[in-house]
Amino acid sequence: MRLGDGGDNFEDRTGQSGGMSFGGGMGGGIFGLLLPLILSRFGIVGLIILGLGYCVLTSVGGGGGGGLLGGGSGTSPATQGGSTMTAEQKRVLGGSLASTEQVWSEIFSQAGAQYTPPGAVAYTGGTRSGCGAAQATMGPFYCPTDQKIYIDPSFFDELTRRFGAPGDFAQAYVVAHEVGHHVQNLEGKLGGASNSNQQQVAIELQADCYAGVWAARARDAQGSLLEAGDVEEGMRAAEAIGDDTLQRQAQGVVVPDSFTHGSSAQRMEALRRGLQTGNPGQCNYSR
Ligand SMILES: [Zn+2]
Repeated sequence: MRLGDGGDNFEDRTGQSGGMSFGGGMGGGIFGLLLPLILSRFGIVGLIILGLGYCVLTSVGGGGGGGLLGGGSGTSPATQGGSTMTAEQKRVLGGSLASTEQVWSEIFSQAGAQYTPPGAVAYTGGTRSGCGAAQATMGPFYCPTDQKIYIDPSFFDELTRRFGAPGDFAQAYVVAHEVGHHVQNLEGKLGGASNSNQQQVAIELQADCYAGVWAARARDAQGSLLEAGDVEEGMRAAEAIGDDTLQRQAQGVVVPDSFTHGSSAQRMEALRRGLQTGNPGQCNYSR
């Protein structure tokens, strides 16, 4: 896709040590049990984990998950240096944030409201967030407390390698999904962490749909951002990160009651709905 350079619209903490230790082998079993649920999920997982007992997970740390993650990806280099982001990662993260800002500012102002964009933090391995410790193993997430998106850019590579969903649009879709949670937060839709599983799925699907709305508007904007094959890239990502697909990969079975993000089919439908309508008003999944 044709993304401009976002410039300095995110905080680059890559290359810094997280200032916290995730060590300790204890609790690996718990982590392994929960891993299919929290692994490489988008956004709302931060909230869900808060509800489940966030501190348990963060104190358990990254140990024990390495096998399922395919060899310890996301471990932090203990260096205290400059950015480790590639130019391409900066382009995709900065450019997609800038594009979502443009689109949502327009949508909000059409509704007579003002959009304040989320902050964004790129980090390596682990860092602090307003919602507690951020860890690469959690995948990208949005923290409503400090209104920031946290992402370890190595997740972009993981999309390609682990989830078979390469391409900058797939990566931008991940960012746009997190921005979707920020929009929900501004709309007052991110309630307590005691949401039922069904409500959580509805929130996730709405964020997918919002990502589709962004893509539709970006597509139709002047100098169309989308290129041939971009939508297919996004669909592939939406399919690859559906709960059923992740569960099948992680434990070989699918447990619908434990879905928190929706199935692959649901996520693809949500993204498609946003793409086809370009209308956030069509993105209501709660019953
Ligand atoms: Zn999400």
